[in-house]
Amino acid sequence: MSLREEMVTVSIVIPVFNEEENLEALRDRLLATLEPRDETFEIIFINDGSSDRSEEIIRSFNEEDRRVKLVSFSRNFGHQTAVTCGLDFASGKAVVVMDADLQDPPELLPRLLERWREGYEVVYAVRCERKENVFKRSAYKLFYWLLNKVSYLDIPLDSGDFSLLDHRVVDVLRAMPERNRFVRGLRTWAGFRQVGVEYERSARFAGESKYDFAKLLSLAFDGLVSYSYVPLRLVSNVGLLVSLTALAYMIYLLTARLLGDATIQGWTSTVVIMLFLGGVQLLSLGVIGEYVGRIFDEVKQRPSYVVRDVLGLETGDTAKPRRID
Ligand code: UDP
Ligand code: MG
Repeated sequence: MSLREEMVTVSIVIPVFNEEENLEALRDRLLATLEPRDETFEIIFINDGSSDRSEEIIRSFNEEDRRVKLVSFSRNFGHQTAVTCGLDFASGKAVVVMDADLQDPPELLPRLLERWREGYEVVYAVRCERKENVFKRSAYKLFYWLLNKVSYLDIPLDSGDFSLLDHRVVDVLRAMPERNRFVRGLRTWAGFRQVGVEYERSARFAGESKYDFAKLLSLAFDGLVSYSYVPLRLVSNVGLLVSLTALAYMIYLLTARLLGDATIQGWTSTVVIMLFLGGVQLLSLGVIGEYVGRIFDEVKQRPSYVVRDVLGLETGDTAKPRRID
């Protein structure tokens, strides 16, 4: 029997970072949704270096039900990396990625599966309503607007990582070597037949958001820099504009000088020009640095994550396992 025939139908991939209060409700709601259906399934929790009882709880789930599996990282590697690892380990014909905090309702799974059975290889969930504070909501809005404006990909508005991927798409994502993972971008890049399913995004079931402002900002930067050359082009355009302005000013000054206006003046203009140019240069260096830093990360060729322990899954190589088919 080939590996494909042994495959479960659906793998659920769930990144977990200190989610002890959510896990039990999540597991119960998942089982309640999946158990009555025909599909075979596995639930893979990726413990992203949690310091609370998350791992212990998942281990006890595994004892009660072998379909619950665990991969534990050696430290916190971040949400997108945890999702990437889940995709590496998942063996399902379809893989669903969802958060552990119940913001992505398990009850949506049947609708995702339905669209998949209709022939769509990527079914992403689209939030039609958010239950978060105004600041976060407007920040998200601004980000998606900006991303769509500058990106060379049409990343669907308001779609997060909550999605179902056919195993062919998962294979494409696995084959992508990059370390800076912005999963919804990679997913869009992969192509195939994609469709959105609307849902109401609930508030977190329990606990605090694990994305602080800095993490969110860095995710936004990853999205913008990895899928757009606009920042680089902007820098050259600003450079051009500044040079042209300087040329015009030079012509003006020379003419004034030649026409005999010899008064020594210009402290203010000198300082303003110096500061302005200094600012523009630093900004440009920063933008270029964003790209250079990412190139540096990629060429180092370090594994995206390090696995400390797995439960219920097979692996030879703890750094970056690959399926052997
Ligand atoms: N998460 C993770 N590693 C991290 C941060 C978050 O695995 O470093 C997980 C977290 O446990 C949750 C999901 O990623 O399952 C989304 O995180 P969160 O709900 O905090 O993000 P938000 O919904 O606020 O954007
Ligand atoms: Mg959340």
